[in-house]
Amino acid sequence: MGMTRKQQRIYQKAFRLLRDATPLRTDCGVLCGSSCCSGDDETGMLLFPGEPTALRVIETEDRRLAVCGGVCDRNARPLACRIFPFFPFVQPDGGIDVRIDPRGRGVCPLVRMEHDVLFSHRFLHRVRRVGELLCRDGACRAYLLEIQQEIAQQQAIAARFSAK
Ligand code: SF4
Ligand code: SF4
Repeated sequence: MGMTRKQQRIYQKAFRLLRDATPLRTDCGVLCGSSCCSGDDETGMLLFPGEPTALRVIETEDRRLAVCGGVCDRNARPLACRIFPFFPFVQPDGGIDVRIDPRGRGVCPLVRMEHDVLFSHRFLHRVRRVGELLCRDGACRAYLLEIQQEIAQQQAIAARFSAK
């Protein structure tokens, strides 16, 4: 499905909010050689519902994946890249709780060191604002809930393995 007018406004605002906000106050890419940007032609970042992109897109039945080969115009990078390695979790009361996204564990040192790192409050605040914006759109809100359910399932499986 294409982007609705409402989604267009949401993505414009979200991209603006996260244009120059980064997880640390310094460039975290120097820690890891920008390992979250070392994808190939087969891997990529999931796009949010209707999210526009200039990157090549692989479509599955219900998901769209932006493929970058590790290179993109920073000002046009997907929303998933802008919020990485965090995710806005929708709470039962409708609020947003910004937490580390455990899906980034294999890629991002910040995920593995989350308790030892002082993250940028400005960045976390902006990811929360973006989560609130996304919740104004039914499809985007449903997508957030779907992803957070997948994360919870993955964590439950990982916990069962580590308990063995
Ligand atoms: S992998 Fe993590 S630490 Fe490295 S550039 Fe990406 S977000 Fe920053
Ligand atoms: S789209 Fe850009 S920011 Fe995102 S993983 Fe690829 S190179 Fe990195």
